[in-house]
Amino acid sequence: MKNYLSLLIIFFSLVFSGCGKKEMNFNYRNNPEPLVRNAYIKLPLGSVKPSGWLKSQLELQAAGLTGNIDDFWPDLVNSSWRGGDGEAWERGPYYLDGLVPLAYLLENDSLIRKAQEWIQPILASSSDSGWYGPAKNKDRWPLAVANKVLMQYYEASGDSAALNVLIKYFRYLHDSPPDWPDSEWRGVRAMENAVTGYWLFRQTGEPWILETIESIQRNSSDWTSYYEKFPWDSAASTDKKIPLNWDSTGLTAHVVNNAMAVKYPGLWYQQADDERYKKAVFSGIEKYDLNHGQAGGRFSGDEHLSGKSPSQGTELCSVVEYMYSLEELYSIFGDNKLAGRIESLAYNSLPGTTTPDMWAHQYDQQSNQVLVSGAKRDWSTNGEFSNIYGLMPNFGCCLANMHQGWPKFIRSMWMATDDNGLALVLYGPSVVKAKVAKGNEVTITEETDYPFRGTISLTIQTSKSVKFPLYLRIPEWSDSVTINFKDNTVTVKGGSEHKLNERWKNGDKITIEIPMNIRTEERYNSSLAVLRGPLYYSLRIDKEFRAVKINYDNFGYKGSVDWEIYPKSDWNYGLLLGKDLMRGLKVKENPVGKYPFSDNGDMVWSADSGKYVINTQDPPVVITARGIKIPGWTMKNNSADVPPVSPVKPEDDPQRITLVPYGCARLRITEFPVMDIVLMEDVIR
Ligand SMILES: [Zn+2]
Repeated sequence: MKNYLSLLIIFFSLVFSGCGKKEMNFNYRNNPEPLVRNAYIKLPLGSVKPSGWLKSQLELQAAGLTGNIDDFWPDLVNSSWRGGDGEAWERGPYYLDGLVPLAYLLENDSLIRKAQEWIQPILASSSDSGWYGPAKNKDRWPLAVANKVLMQYYEASGDSAALNVLIKYFRYLHDSPPDWPDSEWRGVRAMENAVTGYWLFRQTGEPWILETIESIQRNSSDWTSYYEKFPWDSAASTDKKIPLNWDSTGLTAHVVNNAMAVKYPGLWYQQADDERYKKAVFSGIEKYDLNHGQAGGRFSGDEHLSGKSPSQGTELCSVVEYMYSLEELYSIFGDNKLAGRIESLAYNSLPGTTTPDMWAHQYDQQSNQVLVSGAKRDWSTNGEFSNIYGLMPNFGCCLANMHQGWPKFIRSMWMATDDNGLALVLYGPSVVKAKVAKGNEVTITEETDYPFRGTISLTIQTSKSVKFPLYLRIPEWSDSVTINFKDNTVTVKGGSEHKLNERWKNGDKITIEIPMNIRTEERYNSSLAVLRGPLYYSLRIDKEFRAVKINYDNFGYKGSVDWEIYPKSDWNYGLLLGKDLMRGLKVKENPVGKYPFSDNGDMVWSADSGKYVINTQDPPVVITARGIKIPGWTMKNNSADVPPVSPVKPEDDPQRITLVPYGCARLRITEFPVMDIVLMEDVIR
């Protein structure tokens, strides 16, 4: 009798514990206990591939700096990470953090071989203690980056040697005393290790890995309190109180550290299961926007956080790191605002700070960027070459670190869900091949010219019909989105998520129509930015590219040129808008060209002819608007002065002005003063 009773107790306890639990994905590992379950599961690298214009963009990247710099940049040519005797710190791992995913997403054999030439010496360097990398490096910071490289490499290649190196290194961290000083990069950025740590825990389930992460969290910089207090706000910026140094306080005002650290409380939330950490993340993002926010989804930092004026700069490293932080945070929290922000950065700030051919990049980009040249500007701490498009303007970190932007974005476009379905998170032309339901493999092809157009067509390929949920993110800026599938039409409000829980058969199609309405966003001094879908639009300024020699050797390699860009037309326009925003605005759509983010007149490297040529294609979208010149708005310290406070009283006649996507405009006004509408109502009519 006693036995029956205990069996009965076991039976009921199983039933009840089962009731309390959410479903868990059979095909991809979400966080096991004791971690908090994540909202979405990142698919292994290679599951999502680019297509359409996005594939062209990655091919440009492969043919540009990413596919070439380790052949001519001495810091990479002789890198100790690949067995040389040169640079032994962050530059090798930074480069690989983008090269490895790029090579595998493009299935480009020569890039995969190139990546292997780096990876093999790294795998071979793993020592008995668990430490790895160049013998002369004793600093943990570059290994935090190399960990992410090996994690991606393992996912794409299945090479278990990479997994073993990571397990041994985390053992090393577990068994060694904490070494995370607040005054050093490795301490300020220590929780970067947690990205790989939690991934490793999902692979192995080893509880000591969580002990390692807990020790890092407890013994490194306290970013959670930082986001709660947020000491470096607008007032600190105006009063020049932001510490422009490299000690433990200055490092917390450093733009790249901020862009990386915003994910740290979120990473720790998985283990802490405490809302405090989630709140720190979202309030941090809000405070960046409020105090340092820039058009294009980023925040300023021309090395140190530098306020909201549209002539302040944002370092490229911080754009790609912010994107990566948000991609991690999206999988943890599943908040659609984060996904919208990733698109904003990827489709505006990222392309706007490289040349269309991806042979040159800026250190600092500006929203109102009217002169690209070597000259003194009001940066917090950066040098005079920071806004030129070149090989390594100001400093070489961005040249090493920029490569992760596009490939990691693509990897995050689709994610898996706990109910064995898929979520379409970030829109753009792509193909996902993944397991759904009880292990059925499906391929979904997403055809679209998004973000330039709002029509998205999904086609499902499956060997047999299979029921699984498909979640669609409905962008927060859209009014109402129409979805057609299996003879059904539904209309969904923006900012939501729509679940299609259907039995899908081979060839099933889903079309999504996102209306690309034009809207405005209030910015510095009540200026306005113009948006259409996820894209910001900037004033087109006629320009002249001048190849220059600056204060470093650019090695004269193929397309490697440093460009200054000079304005050849006026830029000091205010926007003339009617109460009906669309009145006076004309949108023209053009085919997406060979260089998706370029404007007519840009210099682009032509691999076919082996020289620079002038691009003659218009951007995929061109908007005609009306503007009025503001004579009093001039240059100050080699940048456009802050826009005069809007509304501005007109002194001149209206003219036609042209707006192009921010990412296509290397000279631009993005934050426009607005002309006094009441006065001008007659004119626009
Ligand atoms: Zn940088």
